[in-house]
Amino acid sequence: MSALTAPIGPSPAYLEIDVAAIVANWRILSARHGAPVAGVVKADGYGLGAQLVADHLFAQGCRHFFVAHLSEALSLRAALPGAMLAVFNGMLAGQEGVFVQHGITPVLNSLADLDAWRVHGAGHEAILHIDTGMSRLGLDQDEFAALRGDPARRAGVNLAYVMTHLVSAEQPDAPVNRQQAARCAQIRAAFPGIKTSFANSSGIFWDDLFRSDLARPGAALYGVNPTPGRPNPMRDVVRLVAPVLQVRAIAAETPVGYNGVWIASRPSKIATVAVGYADGYLRSLSGRATARFDGHPIPLVGRVSMDLATFDVTDFPAIRPGTALELIGPGHGVDALAAEADTNGYEILTALGARYERRVRGL
Ligand SMILES: *Cc1c(COP(=O)(O)O)cnc(C)c1O
Repeated sequence: MSALTAPIGPSPAYLEIDVAAIVANWRILSARHGAPVAGVVKADGYGLGAQLVADHLFAQGCRHFFVAHLSEALSLRAALPGAMLAVFNGMLAGQEGVFVQHGITPVLNSLADLDAWRVHGAGHEAILHIDTGMSRLGLDQDEFAALRGDPARRAGVNLAYVMTHLVSAEQPDAPVNRQQAARCAQIRAAFPGIKTSFANSSGIFWDDLFRSDLARPGAALYGVNPTPGRPNPMRDVVRLVAPVLQVRAIAAETPVGYNGVWIASRPSKIATVAVGYADGYLRSLSGRATARFDGHPIPLVGRVSMDLATFDVTDFPAIRPGTALELIGPGHGVDALAAEADTNGYEILTALGARYERRVRGL
């Protein structure tokens, strides 16, 4: 009988999630905002595990959480006793009773939602969303004006917060920031005595302009730089490491991978790892990303396949089967990979696949 020597995980690659860094990031954001800061844990905590993140933030005193869907809130509700747990996408008709029954806070995105909650909300808290530039969800300008002119319409509705969402807070030069700040002032004036919630991750770094009673950061908690172009004030949260499956020597002029889009210009060594676009290592990284070995950049060559990616390790004879290549890590984090994939850190995080072994670094 042969002994089992290598662990059989879902994939040989592993994703390290530094929960201590997430908690530290929440503290950094709280200090910066100078007012309560929620944890946005939609999309399974930006791919890192909503339950994991929510549990740790709750243990550290976070008492406000946001998700996108009612189903996400239902799966977290029991773990967050007494905390506000709010649903950005709000209610579908007929779901009001589920919100009430489970103590989940709807974001009311229209006057129709407001009317429905007055009837069915049984005095429970809700958040009213005013659109100030996204044209996505929330009361539009006409609805806002109608409500401002008729405050009786919201009598009997228990509004915990009035919120809006920022369009381009990560771009300091975007004129829309000043426009939205002006509209935030209108919101404050229209809802005297009701708390406000304005800033996302990047909005927190505008300090006074978008300060409110509750900030709603997601990305920055998970290490994405909320101030692009400036040093990242957040701690890195994820590391993605993949062991080499095989190293092969190829002659000059040998193509590598689907469609042979990369052709070796010299006799080369190619290392293959078990990470592909099905794991969120996006196909658009083909020919553009680099991994790290001992701090050295290792170029990705050829097309990223569904389950595999190939690297040119010709200049690194120490790389052998089993050698760990770091695909995401300090110095080449989520934002750097996002730039190589022509996307943002949010998409990199939420695309991280389900096949990695996940190693949590605790507090
Ligand atoms: C996702 C989301 C946030 C969090 O945004 P980040 O940029 O990740 O901080 C805040 N508010 C709303 C309405 C959102 O949809």
